[in-house]
Amino acid sequence: MQLTKTQVKVRCELGICRNAAEFTVAPSHVGIRSRLHVCRGCLSEICALFEKEKAQEKAQAKASAGAAHETPPQESAATPSAPKKKTKKAVKGEEE
Ligand SMILES: [Zn+2]
Repeated sequence: MQLTKTQVKVRCELGICRNAAEFTVAPSHVGIRSRLHVCRGCLSEICALFEKEKAQEKAQAKASAGAAHETPPQESAATPSAPKKKTKKAVKGEEE
């Protein structure tokens, strides 16, 4: 995955944003059609949201780990645990 400056004149592809794209996100080994063009505003917003999400997941993992430590084993099965899928997804995202 690479982040480069957009070389062509295209618009930001995020939602209804109509700003001129400034950055291009290019996954490895794919054609030009698979690239994502985004403006600076949207990119920084995505980054901010992702940082926030990661912080929340970290806090949740810490809280659930602490809870599991305090809760007796026979009761932990009945206790609804933190969403594990989210954490898995985030880890995958970081690897790319
Ligand atoms: Zn945008």
